[in-house]
Amino acid sequence: MLSTLLRVFLAGQLKPFCLNSGETPQFDSSLKNFGLYVHIPFCRWICPFCPYNKCLYREDKADEYCKALLLELLRYKEIFSSARIDSVYFGGGTPTSVTPKLVQLINRIKGLFNTGNCIGVEAHPNDLNPENLRLLREAGVNMLSVGVQTFNSRFLKVIGRPYDGPTAVDAVRMAVDAGFDTVDVDLIFALPGQELGDAVNDVAKAFELGAHQVSAYPLIVFPYTGMDSYIRRLGLRKTGMVAEKKMLDAIVDLAQKCGYKRTSIWTYTREGAPRYSSVTRERFVSIGAGAASLNSGYFYLNTFDVGQYINAVKKDLPVSIGMKMPARLEMLYWLYWRMYDLNIPVQRFLELFHEPIKRRFSLLLAALRICGLAVLEDDSFKLTPKGAYLFHLVEKGHSWDYLCRVWARSLKEPWPGEIRF
Ligand code: SF4
Repeated sequence: MLSTLLRVFLAGQLKPFCLNSGETPQFDSSLKNFGLYVHIPFCRWICPFCPYNKCLYREDKADEYCKALLLELLRYKEIFSSARIDSVYFGGGTPTSVTPKLVQLINRIKGLFNTGNCIGVEAHPNDLNPENLRLLREAGVNMLSVGVQTFNSRFLKVIGRPYDGPTAVDAVRMAVDAGFDTVDVDLIFALPGQELGDAVNDVAKAFELGAHQVSAYPLIVFPYTGMDSYIRRLGLRKTGMVAEKKMLDAIVDLAQKCGYKRTSIWTYTREGAPRYSSVTRERFVSIGAGAASLNSGYFYLNTFDVGQYINAVKKDLPVSIGMKMPARLEMLYWLYWRMYDLNIPVQRFLELFHEPIKRRFSLLLAALRICGLAVLEDDSFKLTPKGAYLFHLVEKGHSWDYLCRVWARSLKEPWPGEIRF
């Protein structure tokens, strides 16, 4: 519903967007730079709330998969031979389930492309030991995001995570001591049965442990995960909107008091630390099963099925569906993620799209200012607390719509043919 409203009122399009197998990307080989995302789908344990594309770890499968990633990378090297990679992010799944292979992949990426010094990896608390941390640091990884979710052993059980609070604390301590430029702690709030104080304690603990950044997301229950019935079986209830807002407000207040800047609707970063952010790149190439890319005026997805991905990449790029992005839609995509960042830089829009944002989106920007959702400061539109809360609701609703339509179907069908959303 929300995505439909955004599509009609912002993109001015009545018909649904259509991702389809006929829309093969026509690459712009003159592309100068992009962000690289590498998807590692393997997990040692499957969490009941998880909406991502993942599967249980198997060594033989992981070996084959990492070879396929290299093949896909080589295919992109042929296309974008002189492009520079600004940032590399490994997400999942659980990238640290294959740490030695990550090191090999990083070395190959550096050998093939001119890369910046921004390499981020999502880590599982159970994988953080001195040896893995040493391997990652030596490979040049400078940002680590530890998927703690909560430090509270009781709530870790509620969301089915395979470790306890003290293990999560040790993992963050080890990561901070290892000397990364940024250690991000990923937390989920508004967990079933969680009180305001529980949510605030989690964030306070991450700050106390020396995290450079905390990402605190509200729990979103996606119907295709089965989390809804799992919560009911536990005799618990989902957190309501009012309680969730109180938690968000309290987290924002605490971050401010502790000297962390709110750098997105759900992220708080310490002054001077590079921000860990895998989802807000302007142009990106993503490799791996289910990875989504945006470049050359196309948005496209790889097949989600790991076996099909391994086979398909032997012949060609394993793209399952895609769509050409009209210029206005590309601009809106950029604008959407800048609103997620709470900051819309006027000059950057001009550099990217060669026209002033104030002319292209005059009505939208005026509406944001009149409604008290954004202010113009230092040549940027900055979301106010009211605007940030509205965007929190938009991002929750839009993620729900998009994942339920596009991911749920792609998880069931390796080559879905066409998906409208
Ligand atoms: S939440 Fe993370 S660790 Fe759990 S199944 Fe999903 S990707 Fe794997």
